[in-house]
Amino acid sequence: MSSSENKPDHGRRNFLLGSAAMAATLAGLETAAASMSSDKNVHVVIVGSGSAGISLANRLSRALPNGKVTVIDRKEPHTYWPGLTLVATGLWPKDKVVLANADFLPSNITWIKEMVTGFDPENNTVITDSGQKVKYDFMVVAMGIEYNYGAIQGMDVEAIGTNGLASVYHSPDKAAQSWVAIQKYSVEGGNGIFTLPPTAIRCAGAPLKMTFLTLDRLKQNGGFEKAKMNFYSSTGGVFGLPWFNDFVIKRFGENGMDVKFKTQLKAVDIGARKATFATENGDIEAQYELLHVVPPMRAPQPVRESVLAWQDGSFKGWLAVDKETLRHMDHPNVFGCGDVNGTPLGKTAATVKLSVPVVVANLLSVIDGKDPQVKFNGYTSCPLITRFGSAMLIEFDYKKELIPTFSFIDPKQESWFAWVMKEQMLKPTYLEMLQGHV
Ligand SMILES: Cc1cc2nc3c(=O)[nH]c(=O)nc-3n(C[C@H](O)[C@H](O)[C@H](O)COP(=O)(O)OP(=O)(O)OC[C@H]3O[C@@H](n4cnc5c(N)ncnc54)[C@H](O)[C@@H]3O)c2cc1C
Repeated sequence: MSSSENKPDHGRRNFLLGSAAMAATLAGLETAAASMSSDKNVHVVIVGSGSAGISLANRLSRALPNGKVTVIDRKEPHTYWPGLTLVATGLWPKDKVVLANADFLPSNITWIKEMVTGFDPENNTVITDSGQKVKYDFMVVAMGIEYNYGAIQGMDVEAIGTNGLASVYHSPDKAAQSWVAIQKYSVEGGNGIFTLPPTAIRCAGAPLKMTFLTLDRLKQNGGFEKAKMNFYSSTGGVFGLPWFNDFVIKRFGENGMDVKFKTQLKAVDIGARKATFATENGDIEAQYELLHVVPPMRAPQPVRESVLAWQDGSFKGWLAVDKETLRHMDHPNVFGCGDVNGTPLGKTAATVKLSVPVVVANLLSVIDGKDPQVKFNGYTSCPLITRFGSAMLIEFDYKKELIPTFSFIDPKQESWFAWVMKEQMLKPTYLEMLQGHV
């Protein structure tokens, strides 16, 4: 059962509309998209009922009074992913991030509780794991991301929470188990290693939030003086915005941390608490008391291995959509939304929130025989927590230019308000987004 706070709360909508950052940006487009509709009798299939899929289902079911909307996804629990960092660092209980899709999907759609195994866009058909072939007139692919823990030799997600092994990403259960490992470490100290993989990841700020909040827990729980914290990045940095990258590395240094680049987690011996990293100069081994694993990530297999994926280039395997219209490059009746998209930025709920109205507006244009009219600017945002009670609200676009929602918040300064955004306001706004209200 989901708790009442995890269910729709229409009473709070007006407050949220006026106050939350995610709600305010591109509000014109969101409102315009909400009033757009088509009287065409078309069948739209949405693959995936996560953040993007549910929000699309709500908006499209209202925008197509004579149409039919089908959602395909077996998953019934809904994960509020942005809350996992707070679960894994002991601030939130697990049940605060576990919702139910049934509470948010509109009643006038068809929900096929199966998984898609293949795409046949030449015949406007998707194939499910029961062998069912589902025909569509238009399709939106919103299948999220696949964690590739298997790429790390010896990694076992079942061991998360034991032997100093943590990983916030996997699931609410494993985030809660991660807190068991982090809590113990925050008292006892020792060698703590935080990793960053070489692939695109969802919420690029989450590995940094986990590091900053663990530092704070060490200071609160007495382990700081006995701890040596390390951040090992597979890439040449820790974040894609140069000024923020420099800020984080400096702050890590001020806390006595060692930061290594081009150092990729390759293998872990969980029982021996030993990790192996590939570097340009060969492998290195490290003992640890805490290892926070961020797995490599990729598009879900049915997309990755289909003609719908980019076949080469830096987005190879991700859904091949135009980064502005979010329409598929080769199949004009197919759109993409959310983490699955092979676009330069995104993979945040904030991106989902601002790109769903773009997809809806452009899809309705195409349904009515017109070209897509709206261009997505790549908006992404993350309240980057630097300690409990303090965060930076960083919002930027494809050009990596800062596009702050609130003129009174300096994105380059830590603030209590940005923390309140993350801890108090983001989830209610997210629930409104699911229902297609903001
Ligand atoms: C630890 C963590 C912290 C985060 N923090 C923030 C934050 O602070 N701010 C922020 O904006 N974002 C944050 N995010 C990112 C954000 O949660 C995601 O970017 C967003 O939820 C992606 O939505 P989505 O719909 O693309 O994917 P999802 O919500 O994961 O939904 C994908 C759906 O597709 C379904 N699916 C997959 N394969 C198939 C298939 N074969 N057939 C049918 N269905 C399928 C899945 O079952 C799932 O229901 C965080 C994420 C994590 C993990």
